[in-house]
Amino acid sequence: MNVPELFSSKVFNDDVMKDKLPKPVYKALKATIENGEALDSNIANAVAHAMKEWAIDQGCTHYTHWFQPLTGVTAEKHDSFITPDGDGKVMMTFSGKELIKGEPDASSFPSGGIRATFEARGYTAWDPTSPAFAKDGTLYIPTAFASYTGEVLDKKTPLLRSMESLSKQAIRILKLFGKNDVTRVKTNVGPEQEYFLIDKAMYDARPDLIYTGRTLFGAKAPKGQELDDHYFGSIKTRVKEFMAELDKELWSYGILAKTKHNEVAPSQHEIAPVFTITNIAVDQNELMMELLKKTAEKMGLVCLLHEKPFAGVNGSGKHNNWSLLTNTGENLLKPGKKPEDNLQFLLFLAAIVKGVDEYQDLLRISVASAGNDHRLGANEAPPAIMSVFLGDQLDAVVHSIEEGEDYESEKLDNMELGVEVLPSLRMDTTDRNRTSPFAFTGNRFEFRSLGSSVNVASPNIVLNTIVAEELKEFADHLESIKDVKRAMKRLIARTFKQHDRIIFNGDNYSKEWEDEAERRGLLNLKTVPDAVKHYTEKKNVKLFKSNNVFTKGEMEARYEVDLENYAKIIKIEALTMIEMSKKDIIPAVNEYVKSLTDTALAKQELSTDIPVILEKRLITDLSEKLVEFADKLTELENDLEKADGLQKNMQNYADFFKDVILTDMNALREIGDYMETQTGSEYWPYPSYGEMLFGV
Ligand code: ADP
Ligand code: MG
Repeated sequence: MNVPELFSSKVFNDDVMKDKLPKPVYKALKATIENGEALDSNIANAVAHAMKEWAIDQGCTHYTHWFQPLTGVTAEKHDSFITPDGDGKVMMTFSGKELIKGEPDASSFPSGGIRATFEARGYTAWDPTSPAFAKDGTLYIPTAFASYTGEVLDKKTPLLRSMESLSKQAIRILKLFGKNDVTRVKTNVGPEQEYFLIDKAMYDARPDLIYTGRTLFGAKAPKGQELDDHYFGSIKTRVKEFMAELDKELWSYGILAKTKHNEVAPSQHEIAPVFTITNIAVDQNELMMELLKKTAEKMGLVCLLHEKPFAGVNGSGKHNNWSLLTNTGENLLKPGKKPEDNLQFLLFLAAIVKGVDEYQDLLRISVASAGNDHRLGANEAPPAIMSVFLGDQLDAVVHSIEEGEDYESEKLDNMELGVEVLPSLRMDTTDRNRTSPFAFTGNRFEFRSLGSSVNVASPNIVLNTIVAEELKEFADHLESIKDVKRAMKRLIARTFKQHDRIIFNGDNYSKEWEDEAERRGLLNLKTVPDAVKHYTEKKNVKLFKSNNVFTKGEMEARYEVDLENYAKIIKIEALTMIEMSKKDIIPAVNEYVKSLTDTALAKQELSTDIPVILEKRLITDLSEKLVEFADKLTELENDLEKADGLQKNMQNYADFFKDVILTDMNALREIGDYMETQTGSEYWPYPSYGEMLFGV
């Protein structure tokens, strides 16, 4: 395989553009991509023509505006290139207008009541900064999605706006350092993606996985992840073949798939691409999730992207590695050899620390989902409490700044591994803390609270906007001051002093931290309904409005959509449990009880001397459990009916699912799982945890 040749071969990338576009057109398009300049219609027509010709060469017959509505998955509607030529034949055409703007029927996408269905008009607009690609006979054009009245209906538009705002404010700060040549500051993101692989046949036998992506019943297997023998373990042949196929797919779409390894839980794996500009990273992560699923299916496997497919073993997350890069090539989060003297770095660091402290709620909301509620705070993922990890060295620097003392940089020792042939490694100045939700890792921050299926736009919208806001505040203050260096030092010291409660370098999984965080007044928002309540707080509305990311109405809409999605997901889970219980579990247990009864009767018939005490015990136990199970089932059904009456107030409705329905479901599951352990495996209707987790 020739990887460089394969790489990006399905993408309308820079090389293709250079090759296919007339020079002035290429130049104009580049100006749009790099500097956000507006594109005129002649240029758009020329680009559309070249794109179509290229797409036809790639075997495409259709094009689609590919967008990211609030459903949580991407959306596409395919149109063919054909136009009747008047003589009963067709031509293949694609105009600049069709490239720039699409009009999907928007009425069926969630909008949180922004747009009544009778005025369903929405449109998609081409995002020229993210390259188009050819997939399965269709030209995919990344787009943003909005309503005709201008309200934003997707995740792409606010992301682009937040990037814009951050760039603007960062440039102002850099000007104070005399860096007038910086015209653009971009954020880079490298999302590490975790997932599970299970056998397709087993998946097909589980209605819970099919309908909800997670197992709603399932007794623990004798072996889980306790031996730690899976993490970084040698990769099984079938999985290796999958990963090789996946790499090929990802590379062909220009995704920089780089690192792959086994994760903590059996059947769990991770893939990480090399970082790239945020909006492209977002699009590529969406595409990556789709390719994970499709590639698995090709190989008789299913890729589970749910945050918690299996109770009792680690769930899956995503790590959002995030940094700031100028168009002159400078990473603004690089501390350098002497961070204590690096005012510019410290200023950006202070802005980030302040932002995380002041907008803990928004960061938490940006990763909130019904699935992720099972992970956060469960000692496998960071807690629901936001905090910043700086590492020992930076922490000491910050400390000395707060105290107004000189920082004495400790000599960093080389870590000797004690074996001649091994190189001596320089001690990492930013030791790792894998329990922190927001950790500094040398030249970037790693936001670790994301769930595996989240659209990474959401956390990055918040991250970019809060940092933009803090930088704006800093710039407003500093720009008017003569002795700016002195003012910077004071500002940095003041900021760290005011916000050092958000800095925590210890074990985020410990109970002590939860107590300590409460003493520090940090938020601990454990569930979606608890978190999103903070969405439309005054300070948050002000933040998004002043950075031109969301209007108040758009935020209220998102708040509604988040709550509604949450309730819908749990409702589907509850209904699935009810169906599984009635159609499969109760009949199966009864069948087993009957066979026990038959066995006992047969033994008795043979001779009353034969003991049937075991059968009797099991029959009694299971029969009693069946009654308890049926009672819990009724309770769940009744509560679901009650929920229907609460829909007028979305917050109450979602709260009811969190407090009542989830509790009912857990109670039902507990009995179901117990019965599984007591029932003969050939009677149990579903593949077991052991079979699924160790069956690939
Ligand atoms: P680890 O598991 O130790 O965190 P990985 O190699 O799995 O490391 O993933 C690290 C991720 O961070 C990769 O996606 C990588 O491209 C990304 N990354 C590295 N440097 C930067 C940076 N400056 N900005 C953003 N992301 C970065
Ligand atoms: Mg990581």
